[in-house]
Amino acid sequence: MKRSTKVKIVIFFIVFFLCFVDLRPLFRQQKPTPTVITTPVVDTTRKGYKTGSCYDMENSLCYYIIFLNDNESQWNDSEKTKFTQKKFITSLNYLSAKANEYSVTISTEYNHSEVTGTYSGIVETEVVENGSQEDILNQVAQSCGFENPDEMNSHLKESLGVNQVAYLIVMNKDGRSYKYSYVNENNEKLEFCVFFDDSITFGESTCCATISHEILHLFGAEDYYNPYGDTPQREKLAKELYPDDIMMKIPKNVYDAQIGEYTAYSVGWTDTLPEECNNENWWK
Ligand SMILES: [Zn+2]
Repeated sequence: MKRSTKVKIVIFFIVFFLCFVDLRPLFRQQKPTPTVITTPVVDTTRKGYKTGSCYDMENSLCYYIIFLNDNESQWNDSEKTKFTQKKFITSLNYLSAKANEYSVTISTEYNHSEVTGTYSGIVETEVVENGSQEDILNQVAQSCGFENPDEMNSHLKESLGVNQVAYLIVMNKDGRSYKYSYVNENNEKLEFCVFFDDSITFGESTCCATISHEILHLFGAEDYYNPYGDTPQREKLAKELYPDDIMMKIPKNVYDAQIGEYTAYSVGWTDTLPEECNNENWWK
């Protein structure tokens, strides 16, 4: 074979090789592993979970107790101490014991702070249309020297070194406790509870089960009675499944109340979807 023919054959094979074999990977630099940015998705079966300022009972949280005086009720030091020691601490201990049943640890030490505020006017003893629930956190913030609740919240988070502040507003008079949210212009919710604790009828008014119930609401727990309107379907089911649940009834002794699977799921103590969530009546 002539030398030029040999060269042609070699060139043919080189061209053939280059046509069919993809050599690009050899010249390509290894790509960096892409960073996956996951948007936090609120689990739709947990309506109130992680939708507001209180989202995690286990970490970086301070309960901020505000003893609020209004034009018809005031607090003195021994009444405040009684509330904190006998009711608030007992409630936290209860929640901690119940969280343990789901292998969740809630710290009960050094995680509360107290202040006294003033409400100018009279705080209604329950939620009423256009009632004091609408401006109570504003008044609390202003009476503590802040422009508005957001400024107070930012300051407290920084000074207390936490990511969440749970506001517990306590009135020294009888009433019906509730959980409510202040919504700012960015549509962010600052969650708070209002308790009514008449020290004269001490023991009769706000009890530890009420405090625990409302605190659980802050973190996403739902009532078992009529949560979505005027239909009793969920209540019926819940009476069978969770007759002693703290979101169902308020016993005198908080330890007589249970925290069932759905409540535990609602506040993020377990990720196991309870069976009843597959039942459409649960959502009525
Ligand atoms: Zn409730």
